[in-house]
Amino acid sequence: MGGKADPLRIPEALWQEVVQRYPFLSDLSASDLHKLRSLSSEFLAHKQFSGAHGLLITDDMALAIAAQACLPVLHLGLHWYEDFRGIVVHPGPMRAQRVVHDETGLVHHYTEELSGEAMDGGPVTLSWPDAHSPLPATGYCVVIHEFVHKMDMRHGPADGCPPLPSRALQRRWSSLMHSAYDDFSDRLVQAERFGGPLPWLDGYAATAPAEFFAVAAEAYFVNRDRFSQEFAELTGLFDAFFRP
Ligand SMILES: [Zn+2]
Repeated sequence: MGGKADPLRIPEALWQEVVQRYPFLSDLSASDLHKLRSLSSEFLAHKQFSGAHGLLITDDMALAIAAQACLPVLHLGLHWYEDFRGIVVHPGPMRAQRVVHDETGLVHHYTEELSGEAMDGGPVTLSWPDAHSPLPATGYCVVIHEFVHKMDMRHGPADGCPPLPSRALQRRWSSLMHSAYDDFSDRLVQAERFGGPLPWLDGYAATAPAEFFAVAAEAYFVNRDRFSQEFAELTGLFDAFFRP
């Protein structure tokens, strides 16, 4: 199926039900909501959902994921997601086997619980309970997180900087993101070492610039008010990229 999808192909009742579930969608302007419905319809026509461990993907589940996934590309277009088709949904957190070699030569095997994963050139994997329940108060939204990684991966491995339209924006991005990342990591270390309030946003953001971008973008989309209080400069930067 090609071309523009008909937004009305998504039944009205289903669309309203999904939009009302997520305040960061229901708060959008009428024209943005109309655009989101078109994009979601196109997304559903081109992407392939599969359930892991026998999970049955209902229309409601697929639309809930599609609508959240389309939010970051609302003003940029679905071509940002054209390098993959598959979306794999798990009935719960995925357990990934990890191996670390420590400095004494010992090898440690451990299991990590993941709520989502984006593979470079491959599918996006999501845990349904997490995808279903973003937490705007904390800025948490795993669907946006993983799809922003996909945007970041448009020009190679995720590094916290998606392809940007101009040199000027590249320079601004690199300087603002770098200092915001350093500042966030410092505040997190200070809070952990000496007590005191943890900075707003998941501490996972301090693990790498790519994670900082994905975590910050989640918060920007699901809780713009709080995000703009905490990260005023990044709000302007993200506006310049996500709403050109
Ligand atoms: Zn991530």
